[in-house]
Amino acid sequence: VIALRFTIRWRLTLWNLLALALVLLAFAALVYALVARSLYRGLDSRLALAFDQLRHDRRLSSEADNRLAHWIAEFKEHEGFFCVVYGRQGKLRQRSEELAIDSVPARPDEVTTEPTFRDLNLPGINRQRTLICRLQPAEEELDVLLLAPLADVDRELEHLRTALAAAVPGILLFSGVLGYFLARKALSPVSRLKSLTDEITADRLDRRLPVDNPDDELGRLTRTINAMIGRLEHSFVEIRRFTADASHELRTPLAAIRAEAEVALTRSQTEPEVRELLGSILEECARLTRLTEQLLSLAREDDRVETRREPVQLNQLVVRIGDTMRPVAEASRLQLNVESDEEAIVTGDRERLRQVVYNLLDNAIKYTPAGGLVEVRVKRALDRAILTVRDTGVGIPAEHLPRVFDRFYRVDKVRSREMGGTGLGLSIVRSIVQAHGGEIILGSEPGKGTTCTVSFPISPEG
Ligand code: ADP
Repeated sequence: VIALRFTIRWRLTLWNLLALALVLLAFAALVYALVARSLYRGLDSRLALAFDQLRHDRRLSSEADNRLAHWIAEFKEHEGFFCVVYGRQGKLRQRSEELAIDSVPARPDEVTTEPTFRDLNLPGINRQRTLICRLQPAEEELDVLLLAPLADVDRELEHLRTALAAAVPGILLFSGVLGYFLARKALSPVSRLKSLTDEITADRLDRRLPVDNPDDELGRLTRTINAMIGRLEHSFVEIRRFTADASHELRTPLAAIRAEAEVALTRSQTEPEVRELLGSILEECARLTRLTEQLLSLAREDDRVETRREPVQLNQLVVRIGDTMRPVAEASRLQLNVESDEEAIVTGDRERLRQVVYNLLDNAIKYTPAGGLVEVRVKRALDRAILTVRDTGVGIPAEHLPRVFDRFYRVDKVRSREMGGTGLGLSIVRSIVQAHGGEIILGSEPGKGTTCTVSFPISPEG
């Protein structure tokens, strides 16, 4: 459960370390066991060899005391072994002089005529490897106990333990660091894939991820992602085509309905209430026509039709649109100020730039109550042309500001509908501005007014 919180890189490293730790521990245990066994075997065979000399002494049957004393002295001198000989009923019969009486162990209960080895811990002389065996040189029984100190063996094993205890964590640390970097290296294509995938947004669906090796795991994942982007791109294209086709198809019947309603309205014998109905049909027709036009524009913007690149005098364009819109503003009892004397030439599509100014101005007029003020201004600032449309209207509450550029998003649906709004105006504006390499910022204070600032790069010819 804890492992799930880590990144794959850490998980790989940790699992590797765990596996390596188990292998190393098993290996260390094996090495230790083998070394310990070989040390013990060496000591045991020296004990056995020494004992054999005593056992094969022919004169032991005739002059036991002498020979025993001889061998006991011999063992001590050559091998450093102590020796104890027990007589009948385990009574101590002889022992090495150097061995204190306190250190002599009692004879074990079971003694056979085969040498038996075991470890003993004795006072004064500590751990000893012992061999005990029964001899019957004459009619009497002699139990011979040989003692070899385990100090050397214990020291060797102690050294080995220290070395292993240092080596195992050392190796683990080293391979942990190495493993971490290797995992990072192995996973680096994944991070690259992630950042490349992040860059692919709805309007960049024509992009594909590079496939380095189509047959490895990442290659297959990349191909799957690419295929998915392909399907997404296909559906986006379908949706756009559908929107464009549908709005295009709607234009003709709409125009026909409008024409017929207008004809019917001009007939003198038409009843007054029918006239009223025809009037509202015409109104709805106008709304629908506007909607289809806007949908068509949006579909065209989405298709990123090549922006026409002609120099457009933004300042003159604004003045002209201002003149067209002034009657509309005056009808709503608004003051419309246009301030646009500085020359500002922008490269782009005149018709679409006109749409930007028109939509912004249209909104400003729609959402400003009678008696208000609408200001349009074009200025140059360094290499940018700045278009500002300011009104003293109802404003947009802060929580709606980030969303007003979304399609069909309207703050006050009823009001927008009354004004003939569709919720598409600002999204078209933003698309066109972006297609021209420009930026748009909307600032607003509810009840005080709204300011929309658009900036375009100045045309190099300008
Ligand atoms: P609409 O066709 O409804 O005007 P837009 O996309 O042009 O659609 O604008 C989206 C919404 O943003 C509008 O419905 C309106 O609520 C708000 N809005 C746009 N411009 C202004 C403005 N100048 N003052 C107040 N509200 C505005």
